[in-house]
Amino acid sequence: MTEKQTFPAATVAGYPRIGANRELKRSLEHYWGQKIDRATFDTQINQQLTTRIDHLKDLGLTEPGSNPGDFVLYDQVLTLTCALGAVPQRFGNLVRPDGSLDVDGEFTLARGVDDKAALEMTKWFDTNYHYLVPEIGPYTQISAVANPWLEQVKVGGSALRPVLIGPVTYLLGAKASADAPTHFQPLQRLDAVLAGFEVFLSQFAAAGVTWVQLDEPALVCDTWSTSREEVLEVARKTYEFLSKLTNRPQIFVNAPYGPLGLDGLNVLTATDVEAIGLDLVAGPVPSPADLKTIGDKTLVAGIVSGRNVWRTDLRQALATLQAIHQVVPNLSVSTSTSLQHVPHDAAVETSLDPQVRSWLAFADQKIAEVQTLARGLADPNSITAELAENAEILASRANHPGVKRAEVRQATAAVTVADRTRDPYPQRLAAQAEILQLPLLPTTTIGSFPQTTEIRQARAAFRRHEIDEAQYDEEIRNEIARVVKLQEDLGLDVLVHGEAERNDMVQFFAENLEGFATTEHGWVQSYGSRCTRPSILWGDVTRSHPITVEWSTYAQSLTTKPMKGMLTGPVTIMAWSFVRDDESRAEVADQLGLALRDEIADLNAAGIKIVQVDEPAIRELLPLRAAGREQYLQWSVGAFRLATGGAPKELQIHTHLCYSEFNVVVDAIDHLDADVTSIEASRSKMDILPAVHEHGFERGLGPGIWDIHSPRVPKLDEEVGLLEKAVAALDPQQVWVNPDCGLKTRAYAETVATLENLVGAAKAVRAKLEA
Ligand code: GLN
Ligand code: ZN
Repeated sequence: MTEKQTFPAATVAGYPRIGANRELKRSLEHYWGQKIDRATFDTQINQQLTTRIDHLKDLGLTEPGSNPGDFVLYDQVLTLTCALGAVPQRFGNLVRPDGSLDVDGEFTLARGVDDKAALEMTKWFDTNYHYLVPEIGPYTQISAVANPWLEQVKVGGSALRPVLIGPVTYLLGAKASADAPTHFQPLQRLDAVLAGFEVFLSQFAAAGVTWVQLDEPALVCDTWSTSREEVLEVARKTYEFLSKLTNRPQIFVNAPYGPLGLDGLNVLTATDVEAIGLDLVAGPVPSPADLKTIGDKTLVAGIVSGRNVWRTDLRQALATLQAIHQVVPNLSVSTSTSLQHVPHDAAVETSLDPQVRSWLAFADQKIAEVQTLARGLADPNSITAELAENAEILASRANHPGVKRAEVRQATAAVTVADRTRDPYPQRLAAQAEILQLPLLPTTTIGSFPQTTEIRQARAAFRRHEIDEAQYDEEIRNEIARVVKLQEDLGLDVLVHGEAERNDMVQFFAENLEGFATTEHGWVQSYGSRCTRPSILWGDVTRSHPITVEWSTYAQSLTTKPMKGMLTGPVTIMAWSFVRDDESRAEVADQLGLALRDEIADLNAAGIKIVQVDEPAIRELLPLRAAGREQYLQWSVGAFRLATGGAPKELQIHTHLCYSEFNVVVDAIDHLDADVTSIEASRSKMDILPAVHEHGFERGLGPGIWDIHSPRVPKLDEEVGLLEKAVAALDPQQVWVNPDCGLKTRAYAETVATLENLVGAAKAVRAKLEA
């Protein structure tokens, strides 16, 4: 065992890695685009790593083990997959004789190549971050073949605390490889993973690491297909084994994103791990009696939210910490989750309303908060000034007139069940069939077309006042006309306007609704090099003017085919924004629902015949604990139905969801009561279909046949194959043909090639069905 070292008084569970100016994104994309060579890429990455560690030290994370070593190139789960050499068979040629991959190999797993599909991507717990799902089979090679964290230790020295995904979460988050027998579960490979961790830990010990952090969010979740008892038994086995090792640093097991629960806590306290982290923001604070079992282990209190952007109520947080301290002698202060979910620094948001900005804490402000709280815990008198300033800021927020508007509250209070109910589906189906006159297996896309450089430049120029609104509108108009023409040439049946005017599907609405603020630099990693800039929903929401009607009607005027109006749903607007923490989510969702309801009424009045309300995020906000799910689905589905419930039966309502665990939410999707639902399915090879069939889902369904998250162009027969699976499993009358998701991130070349194949596949299968 390495030298005993008390756990740092203040730390954070993780820090953004994308870089304050998105340096990582740029390096990755330049390298992939062959604008820089490997040596330059390596230099840039080393530079970023050093800058990050130094920056955290400048912010005060200098104590031994206080500086989180969670810098990875693409994804923290992928990093562990590569360190364990757990490479799926189809990528076997990338593996070097020692079992490891070079960075090109790592990127190939993430992005796919030729006919080899990338690892599947799935949302990380209830966040908007995507991880790459490991594929584990009975014979997958698993051993410690590389230790990328040592590089960070070399740079960070004793302050650095390597952060790894824990074995339980790694295996529960994995899926069985394609060649595994039917009942195989990745958890069966626990021993191999533990052997790998034994090596990592001994390497850390040899490098003088004092603390290692193992993230086990799997333990806050009781909705795995594996029972809670079994999950906890695996956790017990894991941490008994790891903590009994003699050649290791001290172990900090962190349980972010939800309440660990007394059962989970007891499993960890019974082992010899030295520190346990609890998320005190997402879950209730355990009672003093429950915390007693911690004994002389360190409790790392995740009291500052790693998920939202609001200043912590320091007085309240300090009181909570003090109460815990009564029963837990070794108490440290941290964030509830990694700060990878928030932007770097609120101080640079100089174009935000200064009052709103004063309410905010991004990653760097949160680091200051944990330190203030740690000082206050040691000596409350040392932070009197900070507490006073904090109280003043919170009061200014509570008293701001936009925070609560009487007319909005009256409108949500007046909502009835009838407002959330449409005509019965059979009547809608008949009315819409008559108006739309669509062929069997109608083809469509999910909404966005590639955002060209010209459009991005025009938007930037408009923002900088280099072109005026008329010029900008002209660019958008031309782009829409081009996209409509392209779709007509391709032979698609239901067209879209392409969303050229939208920087982001949520931000666009946030910018056009009251109650939101948008940031300039507030980027957060979504996956790999992709980032989003979540808006900040701080007040009551109202719609003061129509938002999408002008562009949708213009696009419709260019074609006789139906043009889909395109809206983002209430739940997704919330999931991809930073939402106020001073109001129930149900209330906020209904406020958004009412605003969108007015927009749909305006689209309908303007002659639009199909409106798509995207809800890709419904699944990601699903509580990790089964007990919370019913209530969540009640308000989230309710808000969608409030938005769409005013649509007349002739108006076809589509929705779009992008993830493959259809079975988890098939009930909820059914309750959304949309006429047509499109959903991601291609990466998972259509394995959503049995769930649809079993459930008896009878409305329109478009299982995606093109994985748009990869630059790969699927061949025609591949798309025919996926589509044939769909028509075999469902009633062909139900089936729509579309890509997995919007095309915004794709290039035009691959878009056109793939859509040709998609239309070709629909025609081929249609011909067979009609023969
Ligand atoms: N309509 C959106 C688009 O096409 C949907 C994107 C999504 O589901 N994430 O971009
Ligand atoms: Zn999608």
